[in-house]
Amino acid sequence: MRKALINIDYTNDFVAADGALTCGEPGQAVHDKVLSLTKEFYEAGEFVAFAIDKHTENDPYHPETDLFPPHNIEETEGRSLYGDLEAYYQEIKAAKTVYYTDKTRYSAFNGTDLETKLRERDITEVHLIGVCTDICVLHTAMDAYNKGFSIVVYKDAVASFNQVGHDWALGHFKDTLGARIV
Ligand code: ZN
Repeated sequence: MRKALINIDYTNDFVAADGALTCGEPGQAVHDKVLSLTKEFYEAGEFVAFAIDKHTENDPYHPETDLFPPHNIEETEGRSLYGDLEAYYQEIKAAKTVYYTDKTRYSAFNGTDLETKLRERDITEVHLIGVCTDICVLHTAMDAYNKGFSIVVYKDAVASFNQVGHDWALGHFKDTLGARIV
């Protein structure tokens, strides 16, 4: 069984105190764990994927335009990875085991070639970290489940601005998607 780490939306807009759609302190609190897991997977030679939201400002065709303030707008600092993760990503990004994809919807699988990258590497288990637990991590987990991947979620490396949603999603991962919560 081969595994991959999927690093979801851990960007300035979603995590920094002044981020456009920030998880705030719960998001900042998981920084060290997000970084250490990324290092752990990379150093072990495992596949490390970054799936990062990308939007065009005021896109009239995008459903999130009416749902959320503008966030992760292309070519802005808001889209950079938060804290020390950005510098670490820059350090490792050329490696064959590191993959970065833009995404425009909640799920890391939607409109990306993430699934192809996983299948060609015979990866059957995805390990999820990032934000928000009950939005992009949740939708990624649901797609992973439907596509037949085993799922691991790190409870100390996911966060949300909505504590009730966060707690609910952790239960859903375990009870409904069969994920291992570690
Ligand atoms: Zn978005």
